[in-house]
Amino acid sequence: MNVPLNILTEREVLEHIQRYLKGTEQHHLATVNPEMLLHAQHDEEFRHVLHQTSINTPDGMGVMWAANTQHDSLWKSILKLIVLPIYRPTSPLPERITGVDLFLEICKQAAEKQQKIFLLGAKQGVAEKTKEALKKLYPTIQIVGTYSGSPSIHEQEKIKDIINDASPDMLFIAYGAPAQEKWIARNLRKIPSVKVAIGVGGTFDFISGHIKRAPLLLQKTGLEWLYRLIKEPARWPRIKNATMVFPWRFLKSK
Ligand code: UDP
Repeated sequence: MNVPLNILTEREVLEHIQRYLKGTEQHHLATVNPEMLLHAQHDEEFRHVLHQTSINTPDGMGVMWAANTQHDSLWKSILKLIVLPIYRPTSPLPERITGVDLFLEICKQAAEKQQKIFLLGAKQGVAEKTKEALKKLYPTIQIVGTYSGSPSIHEQEKIKDIINDASPDMLFIAYGAPAQEKWIARNLRKIPSVKVAIGVGGTFDFISGHIKRAPLLLQKTGLEWLYRLIKEPARWPRIKNATMVFPWRFLKSK
């Protein structure tokens, strides 16, 4: 589907991040889910951004399934999709790396190494609550700023100034895809202290307790979407895209 993904374990991604933080260049990482792959098919700017990132991780079983079956016949791919919750054959991609899991691991490392973090986005007060929750998890963590704001072009100058005043090493943005990825692509050069920037979608909502994450069993079997559908029925169009339209488009391309 013309979006590159890196063949890396979560541990390897964390090692890359540590290297990036010691270097002089700035890096944009994206956790790519099925909806993002679909969106990239008709949004050229977004597709271009996903080609400029330093690392793209597979965020979702659907992406793992697609990578695993890209050379399989149509029927074999369908069969692998049906049995996905109980049987997962080896994939070229070693593991699923979700925004929320990666975020927590990065925060853990940052707390140990005194690396400075800025949390941007989500509804008013959610980033601040996320900061409090992270302080409880990792007491030595240095969150140097939080701001809700919006991905609107009219606000980016102000947000850029707020971030530069705080001078973080890492920036996490919760504006949802593709707005957060486009925001990073437009603004990263203007916030030079930031060595690593990642769009994290609804991560702050989970960590702050604003929205509850699915039980571990559903996460591990790839059925997290079912839990979210029950909890937030308004997400149906997005869930349909991830669980139906995405596999359909992928199979059609065979
Ligand atoms: N959001 C925001 N401003 C916007 C649009 C979205 O702060 O203009 C936030 C929203 O509050 C949520 C996050 O962006 O915290 C996106 O969450 P979503 O559930 O869409 O992300 P997912 O995890 O599904 O990618």
